[in-house]
Amino acid sequence: MLGFPTPYPEELLYSTIARAGVHAGETSPKRLLDQVFANRKVIATVDLPCHVQALTEQYPEILDLDTQKLISRHTLLPVYAPFLPSERIAKLKQWMVEKSQGATHLASGIAASRVKAKSRLYVCVECLKEQKYRYGECYWQRLWQIPLVKTCPRHGPLNATNIELDGEHRHRFVPVEEAEILSPVDVVAIDNVFSLQAAQLLVVTSNGVSFNQWTSFYKEFANNFGFMNGPKIDHAKIHATVVQFWGATWHKGTGLSPSNTDTSWLKALFRKHRKSFSFAEHIVAVSALSNGALSISDVIARTSSLAENSEPKSQFYNHELCAENQMDEDQVQWNGLLKLNSPKSARQQYPALYARLYRNHHDWLLTIDGFSHSDSVAVNKRVDWEARDRLIARELRYKYEQLSKDLNAPQLSRTFLTHQLDQRATVEKNLYRLPRCSKLLGLYSENTTEYQARRLVRAYLEMKEHHQEIRRWSLLRRAGLSDERMTDSVVELLKEILIEQT
Ligand SMILES: [Zn+2]
Repeated sequence: MLGFPTPYPEELLYSTIARAGVHAGETSPKRLLDQVFANRKVIATVDLPCHVQALTEQYPEILDLDTQKLISRHTLLPVYAPFLPSERIAKLKQWMVEKSQGATHLASGIAASRVKAKSRLYVCVECLKEQKYRYGECYWQRLWQIPLVKTCPRHGPLNATNIELDGEHRHRFVPVEEAEILSPVDVVAIDNVFSLQAAQLLVVTSNGVSFNQWTSFYKEFANNFGFMNGPKIDHAKIHATVVQFWGATWHKGTGLSPSNTDTSWLKALFRKHRKSFSFAEHIVAVSALSNGALSISDVIARTSSLAENSEPKSQFYNHELCAENQMDEDQVQWNGLLKLNSPKSARQQYPALYARLYRNHHDWLLTIDGFSHSDSVAVNKRVDWEARDRLIARELRYKYEQLSKDLNAPQLSRTFLTHQLDQRATVEKNLYRLPRCSKLLGLYSENTTEYQARRLVRAYLEMKEHHQEIRRWSLLRRAGLSDERMTDSVVELLKEILIEQT
């Protein structure tokens, strides 16, 4: 097929194929399959598509788009891969490159999982607007289709569409533009925590983690975060913490509500792993038990680094006092500090405490510091979000005043404004906890007209201040605007300014 489109960032291959049909003006789904795959039986798969080899053949070599890149950047395999043994991933990839007759869904565990794949396609309406503005067309993005993801971390609730993924659409790759966008899905605040964790999986590279490594990780994890009852895992405490963190409303309909029986998946997660658990089960357990402090990408990095046959060091687990009620005063204090600070900043604030721990609890210190990450998603109830909101809002107001006077400042988009803040990561990840900041960002961020108008007015004031003669062309040049680029409202504004002059 000539001129097969290259995928946009985060675009699903499903979507690229749909756009290829639009670009070529191909209205028949069967003929599109013929042209792209030379095979009319290909099923339009969103998450783990096959026949990827046929797609790479559409691209000139110079683009260097091999099957590896297409699979890791434009399918949902990265969501599942870190939780599977490496042999399984190799097999999956092989099937995706060629064909599988549904084997990918069996091998990835999707078919057997408590967490079902989405049965229809979803979108973030605001992201669609941005795509249209940036690329002139829209596309289906990966994050929206991940099971249980209900929000766009930047914009809020996703919207369902009328595109259902079985039945009549089986062999059709439907472009976003053809979809009817339905109402936004119901969400609760904690949904965004899940989305942020799921989004991390899309940027993690993992060659798979073995069952033994996961077994070791969860032993270590229970130990470090105080979920031991003597030498045993405290399953009751784990259960209560998970239920409380996510809340009944969130759990409903996820298929992940842990039961109290001995066969509960949550209990199995802390025993010897004999089968793989889904990404969602890992996210649910890790976020809740670390109170939001551990990111799933940190967990994967940590687990991958564990030795294949690592039986926990008996010295560490038996003699070192780890469970919360057995920690000494210094350890309790350090543990508390890490919930709000990175290890580095805790070290800088409390050097003496750090030195004592280094001397007396060296192994413990290294392990717990390894768990902590300065960028981790902080969902700590002890954070005073209201105070933080006020503080950041003040900074935002100050930055805005400076920037709005600066003729050289670029368009004050939400992203640009956010990036001017000292705590930009906090704001990006927790905007829903910062109502003042959110409101100010909405107020201060400029669209194109506002941006041009600001430049025009600033240029005018500057020229006036320097007693320069104001002509249409000189004003435009100072403002960096041109007739072609000005929006209609700015043209009107310019006219008024010039009339004022005469
Ligand atoms: Zn969005």
